[in-house]
Amino acid sequence: MARRKAKPVRVGSLTLGGQAPIYIQSMTNTDTRDVAATVAQILELEAAGCEIVRCSVYDEACANAIGAIKAAIHIPLVADIHFNAALAVAAVENGVDKLRINPGNIGSRARVERVAHAARAHGVPIRVGVNSGSLSREMLERYGGPTAEALAQSALEEVAVLESVGFEDIVVAIKSTGVQQTVEANRKLAASCGYPIHLGVTESGTVGYGSIKSAVGIGTLLMEGIGDTVRVSLSGSPVPEVPAAQQILQACGLRVFCPEIISCPTCGRCGIDVEAMAGEVARRVRHVTRPLKIAVMGCVVNGPGEAREADFGLAGGKEYGMVFSRGKTPRKVARDRLLEELVRELEEAGVIEPRS
Ligand code: SF4
Repeated sequence: MARRKAKPVRVGSLTLGGQAPIYIQSMTNTDTRDVAATVAQILELEAAGCEIVRCSVYDEACANAIGAIKAAIHIPLVADIHFNAALAVAAVENGVDKLRINPGNIGSRARVERVAHAARAHGVPIRVGVNSGSLSREMLERYGGPTAEALAQSALEEVAVLESVGFEDIVVAIKSTGVQQTVEANRKLAASCGYPIHLGVTESGTVGYGSIKSAVGIGTLLMEGIGDTVRVSLSGSPVPEVPAAQQILQACGLRVFCPEIISCPTCGRCGIDVEAMAGEVARRVRHVTRPLKIAVMGCVVNGPGEAREADFGLAGGKEYGMVFSRGKTPRKVARDRLLEELVRELEEAGVIEPRS
């Protein structure tokens, strides 16, 4: 797949767009004024692998908390602001790395210029965009509802407001609660502007179905080369958003966070507890960041063939199974020793540390 070449935009220590990795974002759900709680949640997000974090900034106390939050975290911080130019300027002056604000709803041209001037002076980009639930009445009337065209056009109009005051350090996002609409609107956006695009299916739900909706929406666009950052929006703690985003990026072949465990669904031929063994293998290699495929297959009838593309693997059997390691002849191993022998192969290959 050819990735769309977006204009590179700096966000703190990271660059979005160009050939930069597709970064993972999340958003705190603490009260931003509570610095200790917000920092604690951001550190938890960082530990999970979050690379950019956004906080709501809805009053002066939130804007004033930014300096202390920034000083205690290690990833770029984005301030999410609605309607208020003064808060946007305060957030920038307090050291935020990016603003998420729509110039179309902060009022007069003079206010937009004020925000753009402050952002430019501090090298801070601005993310603009729309959610299906926040389209203006005028747009809804013009397009007969929150259509993909209305979403794309609305986002482009927000971009145009910033460009009209000479500001082009822009990231754009269009999010809908509908997967199909998110995909269609982002396709239109990608074809009509050159700025980095932040992807997400908004309000996608709780961890299970929300992750699937996000995977379909975000994954479809990523596979078309569209998208420079992603957020999986899930109800509850933001921390599970991060592994969900990692898994989407890895499944799309765009980033590697851990070895890929290939395990069969099992059937009547299965001779081992595939689920438990695959879980144990995943646990043992969870800190490995090398791109590896490790297969755990239930039988030696189809297992070896299905595991051929893997770097390491095992295939079960009623009494004996096989252990595979790329470049070596497969070995026949007693069923009860399969996992142990696979782990030994991983240790000998330097994938994991030998057990003491
Ligand atoms: Fe069934 Fe063997 Fe295929 Fe697993 S690998 S699904 S046990 S045939």
